[in-house]
Amino acid sequence: MLDKPQRHVVFAESLDVAIEALAGGASVLAGGTWMMRAERRGEPLPASVVLLDRIPALSEVVVTDTGVTLGAGLTHVAVANALKGLAGLQGIVTAASSAANPAIRHAATLGGNLAASDFPAADLAPALLVQGAEVELASRSGSDRMPLGAFLAERRARLRSAILVRVHLPREAVASAHARLPLRKAGDYPVAIVSLARLPSGALRVAVGSVEPVARRWTALEAAIGTRPISPDEAARLALAHMDFEGRDGVEADGWYRVAVLPALVKRAMEDLEARA
Ligand SMILES: Cc1cc2nc3c(=O)[nH]c(=O)nc-3n(C[C@H](O)[C@H](O)[C@H](O)COP(=O)(O)OP(=O)(O)OC[C@H]3O[C@@H](n4cnc5c(N)ncnc54)[C@H](O)[C@@H]3O)c2cc1C
Repeated sequence: MLDKPQRHVVFAESLDVAIEALAGGASVLAGGTWMMRAERRGEPLPASVVLLDRIPALSEVVVTDTGVTLGAGLTHVAVANALKGLAGLQGIVTAASSAANPAIRHAATLGGNLAASDFPAADLAPALLVQGAEVELASRSGSDRMPLGAFLAERRARLRSAILVRVHLPREAVASAHARLPLRKAGDYPVAIVSLARLPSGALRVAVGSVEPVARRWTALEAAIGTRPISPDEAARLALAHMDFEGRDGVEADGWYRVAVLPALVKRAMEDLEARA
């Protein structure tokens, strides 16, 4: 019989301990819902991990009139509970409470959802992009803040030496919505995701997840809409006219299909936004 590989686990009680463990070669383990399925994806499980769930800063929530700070260790359920009822942030609540299934939502963390660099279908990524979110990273060289969009593009390199500690949200949106298309009712990854946020100027922010390898803002559509009020049908028409996505092929859907459903998702998200406004 083959011997099971020895694994080393660090239960970090402070950020400093976690950063040192990371520098010593350990992998960060949060809710484990992505990492523990590594072998199914043909990847080896790490030999050494550092657990973050005993670090108090990672489960903190701070809400002020101008912003919200969310610890990266909050589960999807905790994120939804923290933001429920806060004006302008409904899109994040929808994302956190409709992703995956109830068991996963109780374990999967905000940090894990944003840090899993090979996971294009993260619901929280587009929902946070339209809010102008920034992430706070901590490493041996100190702490650092950067826009979420830049973090998503650079995260693989940045997270070799840094831990995602918090997400900062300005409270500038007056309404937001999140529309996703899973092929089944629950449990599978969304084929495409559209998040919207309306600013006081009337400007609309649009972000798309799951269609390309990394979620991003749809700036061509944002510019076409401008600050004028438009109907959901008009938004869908503009979405078709300003399509600039290259869909990724995957087990749930082909790339062309992910792109083809975007105008309908824009329309659905606009209808939700109007209902909220
Ligand atoms: C059946 C199923 C269905 C799912 N459906 C959806 C869905 O519909 N929508 C959706 O968005 N997601 C879905 N997911 C994915 C799920 O949301 C992610 O697995 C989860 O968010 C990852 O978080 P975690 O805390 O479990 O991360 P872990 O598995 O612990 O870690 C994931 C990665 O992030 C790194 N990491 C974690 N936290 C940090 C941190 N603070 N700093 C630095 N690096 C960190 C880890 O090192 C690892 O590389 C689904 C998962 C499953 C199993």
